[in-house]
Amino acid sequence: MGKKLIYEKVWPHDLIDVLAARILDDSEKTYYDFSDKVVVLPSLNTVAECSRRLVELAGSGLILPSFTTFDSWACQVAKPFEVETKRYLTLLIYHELEKHQWLERGNNWNLAADMAQLIGELNSYQPDVELDLESVNDRFNEAYQTRAQKLVGFEAKLLFDTWHAFTGVRNGRTSEQNVYRHRLSSLLKLEKRSLYVVVYPDLSPLERAFIESYSSQHCVTVLEADVSSIHDDTRADFCRSVYQNETQDGAFLNSEPTSGDPNVWKDTISYFPAVNLDQEVRAIQVQIQDWIRLGINTIAIIPFDRKVARRLRAVLQQSGILVQDEFGWKMSTTSVAAMLVDWLELLTSDIEITKLIAFLKRPILLKTSGVEELRLNLEKAFKKNRHWAIKSGFYEFAQTCCSDRSLELAHMLREAKSRFDRAKSRRHRDWIDGVLMSLEFMDLKLKLEYDDAGLQILQLLDTLRGEVELLQREVSFAAWLDWFKTQLEDNTFKDTKINSPICFTHLSAARLRCFDGIIFAGADDGNFPLAETRTPHFGDGVRAQLELRTTDDFIHADKVDLIGALLSSSNILVTWQSQKDNENNLISPWFESFRLYYTQRWGEGLIDSDLQSRVNLFDRQQRGLQAMYQPSSEPQVSLAASEIPRKISVSGYQSLLDCPYQFFIRYVLRTREPEILDFEPSNRELGNVLHVTLEKFHARHPSCVGVDVGILHREIIDITRETLETHIGIRGVTHGWITRFYDLLRQYLDWQIQWEKEGWDIIDTEKDCERTFLTEGGLSVDFFGRVDRIDEKLAVTGPETMVIDYKTQGKSRLKKMISTYDENTQLLSYLALQTENKVKAMYLSLDKDSPDMVTLEVDDVSGMVETHMSRLRDLFGKLESGEVLPANGVTSSCKYCDVKGSCRKDYSWLPK
Ligand code: SF4
Repeated sequence: MGKKLIYEKVWPHDLIDVLAARILDDSEKTYYDFSDKVVVLPSLNTVAECSRRLVELAGSGLILPSFTTFDSWACQVAKPFEVETKRYLTLLIYHELEKHQWLERGNNWNLAADMAQLIGELNSYQPDVELDLESVNDRFNEAYQTRAQKLVGFEAKLLFDTWHAFTGVRNGRTSEQNVYRHRLSSLLKLEKRSLYVVVYPDLSPLERAFIESYSSQHCVTVLEADVSSIHDDTRADFCRSVYQNETQDGAFLNSEPTSGDPNVWKDTISYFPAVNLDQEVRAIQVQIQDWIRLGINTIAIIPFDRKVARRLRAVLQQSGILVQDEFGWKMSTTSVAAMLVDWLELLTSDIEITKLIAFLKRPILLKTSGVEELRLNLEKAFKKNRHWAIKSGFYEFAQTCCSDRSLELAHMLREAKSRFDRAKSRRHRDWIDGVLMSLEFMDLKLKLEYDDAGLQILQLLDTLRGEVELLQREVSFAAWLDWFKTQLEDNTFKDTKINSPICFTHLSAARLRCFDGIIFAGADDGNFPLAETRTPHFGDGVRAQLELRTTDDFIHADKVDLIGALLSSSNILVTWQSQKDNENNLISPWFESFRLYYTQRWGEGLIDSDLQSRVNLFDRQQRGLQAMYQPSSEPQVSLAASEIPRKISVSGYQSLLDCPYQFFIRYVLRTREPEILDFEPSNRELGNVLHVTLEKFHARHPSCVGVDVGILHREIIDITRETLETHIGIRGVTHGWITRFYDLLRQYLDWQIQWEKEGWDIIDTEKDCERTFLTEGGLSVDFFGRVDRIDEKLAVTGPETMVIDYKTQGKSRLKKMISTYDENTQLLSYLALQTENKVKAMYLSLDKDSPDMVTLEVDDVSGMVETHMSRLRDLFGKLESGEVLPANGVTSSCKYCDVKGSCRKDYSWLPK
């Protein structure tokens, strides 16, 4: 057989048919033995479909070719070197960035990850496949020398130099891409079979060069997915018009629908705009149930939004629909990861007593003998003598209140603490060993081993240990923990036990696969396309200089995949949230283009109003079902005289009004549920950052008038950076928040200057205020709070004072709060804590781009304050008379309640 390269462009939905036909065409018509052929597919998930089609077309028995992917094929060759992974490279770059402190520290993780990614791409994009093992470093040097001269941009040059410093073989190790390169190179020498390759636009130059070299020795047929040619399938041609003509001026939208043109998408695709996340998830659940009833069984769910995926997974599981997971979710969001991080932070804190109490509440520990006893003992004793508990340390304290098994556990914890010795700096692998050893205490390792996600975390620790084996640098435990948290964030947990025809998958993983139904979930403008490829560093300019793929390439690859998926199914649902934070939210522009063309061509809409009524019906049925049950009686508690607090904060007063039981858990028991591990800082953390930033800034600049606003802006942004770093830590995500604060704080400065011009001066920030009141029973109670800021203005009628509370909520939400000031009492409480006359109060909304003032307008401030204080006295009177504190929070209070687990509201229902 002569050596040749056949190259063909094929529409993605035709690829399998064309592939099968080409394989058959190249064979004897009577005897189908394809064992001399190897077929490289984009993923092994498509093998079954390809085999089925081949058997179908052959119409007789056959010996199948060898189906593989480039990765699996290359793995058949032994590794020439040990692999230096991208994770390891990220760590090396991070350490360099930390050492030299070129940039602000908070950004170094993010930057290191981006650099390691680009260096990996550069390794793949050096086109010489024929590298022999000996000359690899020379060849990379050559590539560097030739190209480095041409680079002019600073970032491109920096990256290229870094690539040069890190590439090649060092200490018998090299990058994943180089190992792959060598394996492909060895395959060229070993393989003799004819090759068929299905190619998508994101195939790397390395693989393309391999195909080229292979074709010089053996027959190669390349079928490349392409959507640019004219196709006689009307649906394909429709997609071509939609996605190739996006840049047209939109004039087509004004023309009339084409009459007599049969609607080829009718009953195939529909859209569902949800008003919130719950409704979006509900609609998908209803649609899947309907499809299953109609015999539409193989269903792909392609989520563009992790939150939607997470909620949907839980809802489908509850309704008994098993879903295979090719998508996975961040390891950091699993409960065992949260438990592990809690444990490590507990060790970091030298087993601080409140952290220990919170840790012992983790459900996974409940069955461990002695845990509950230890927690209750500590909690009770802590309530009585908080000061001593904190001062003495957990073990000494435990000795005073624990016995038997609980004391034994306390011994164990002390042992774990002393063996762990977090004060030293150690190598990464030593920290991993230390962490694994610490998990032996209290059987934590066993608990991880019994959990699927836990097992994958242990495997990750094992892999990480191997990867950092040679790293000699010593780091503090806090630095190691930061690194480990980013690993939990970057790695996904996949539940591999479920095998189902319904699956969560990625758009690119749906290539060449046939599904009866496809759901594109979370198709909001902000999620698709490009959300996954956006990085704050190294834009297209740098990538283009380095001859790497740019946004246009990513877009093109996504477009081919989207069109392939649209054409491969006859039941498609697209969902997105048309409302977010009370504002309209747009659908992804690609689905919007599809809709506009569709409406233009056939004069019909795509919104599935039928699904809307089915969702409403489903909700009605759920409510009907709920009506047959009642919540179990709400928990309640009354206080002994000695338990009545002697002081109450502004937020404690609010909690007492919102839900007395919540007040009991938070302010009498003084305990809260541990925060859920989340890489993104919570809104509360960000609110704190903003408060601290403004306090520090105004300590330096009580007045801003007369100072150049640009200088002020630079200064306040510097303070924000420092504060984010101190309060949130060195996490990549903080970079995004600096960007968000950048415009907001510029607007804030303009507001501040204008405010001062109106005559207002800052007289205090973060001021602690307090007043005392007497209860009916004669108890003296301190009412206290910290006011964000107090301003004063000299008016004709005398000085006026304004209490200002900074808020990160939007104006409309604050207006709603202020209109119910007797329920949302924070401002009234602050007013009650002022001694001056003529005091006003307002919220300053620092939400999106600009500050907004929301002022409390009441005619009789002193009358309101008096009523407010006498209500507080009455409530304390009720506590003294032993009146119960029920768990009676309304939905809005329960939604953000951090002690929900204690009252078990929403968890216990009884039949009526
Ligand atoms: S969840 Fe609701 S009812 Fe339960 S303690 Fe919290 S606010 Fe009260």
